[in-house]
Amino acid sequence: MDMAGEQRRISFHGSGFSNIMYRAGVCSYELPDAHITADAPRCRESDNHGPSHAPSLLRYDEWQSWGTTWQCNSCLFAGATCGDLKLCVKIAINLEKEPPRDADSIFYERTRVSAHLSVAQSFLDEYKFYRDHLQELQGTLVPRHYGLWRFNSTWGGVVLLSIFEWAGSPSFPLFYRTLANKDTTEYRVACIQAVREFHKRGISHGQLIGICNIRHILFDLETRTARLIDFTSSSADHECNGPNFPVPHGSDNFPGCCDEVASVAGAFQYYNYVPPIHETRL
Ligand SMILES: [Zn+2]
Repeated sequence: MDMAGEQRRISFHGSGFSNIMYRAGVCSYELPDAHITADAPRCRESDNHGPSHAPSLLRYDEWQSWGTTWQCNSCLFAGATCGDLKLCVKIAINLEKEPPRDADSIFYERTRVSAHLSVAQSFLDEYKFYRDHLQELQGTLVPRHYGLWRFNSTWGGVVLLSIFEWAGSPSFPLFYRTLANKDTTEYRVACIQAVREFHKRGISHGQLIGICNIRHILFDLETRTARLIDFTSSSADHECNGPNFPVPHGSDNFPGCCDEVASVAGAFQYYNYVPPIHETRL
């Protein structure tokens, strides 16, 4: 094995550190450059501003203590670049350390697995799902998976990274930001169509509908494509009872398609959408 090809250097903005990381497991895609430069990590659950805002920026001392003084069910993540390639890096750190026992003691006692180790396990599960079920869709309906990487650090203990091609902005906040004065039909249809394509292949995502938002559907305004991410709760043996596109004048009760596709269409207000008077492209 060519070990030189299996390592890269990564640095996180604001940390002052640069680490050699090693590939864990095989991967179909090679990162194009020896060095990855990542932004300061964020955490989805640190966001208290609702779905239309980006997650809060964390200070170095805040994200560096993920999994020790605080833990949550969401990973850290960061935008990054490797040569000309734009990436999204999911990060789990401090994996060798004891979690805070009083932070989530009921969960810990029940499962004997801490939240931050569950996040690391979800990276592994998702890697396998990409490998086994999403090979043909990488680069089109899902971002390319650039593999699992690991290293030991002085600042965050044992670190596990899951690296993806950057795939766009969260579609739902985009929808609400632009709803008032833009025609959002094109990308809402693209998002619904993307979910439908997975169902036609027997894949249900499982985590597309949040409490009052749509999750894990991204839209790239440059390429005008929709992609799905985060396949940690997905099924590849979905028996679809209606892979058709939702009927244009249907309803939540009579969508003319499978439940998950219909839920996304409903959340995007596809059934009762009235275009603004002066429609313009985004
Ligand atoms: Zn279905």
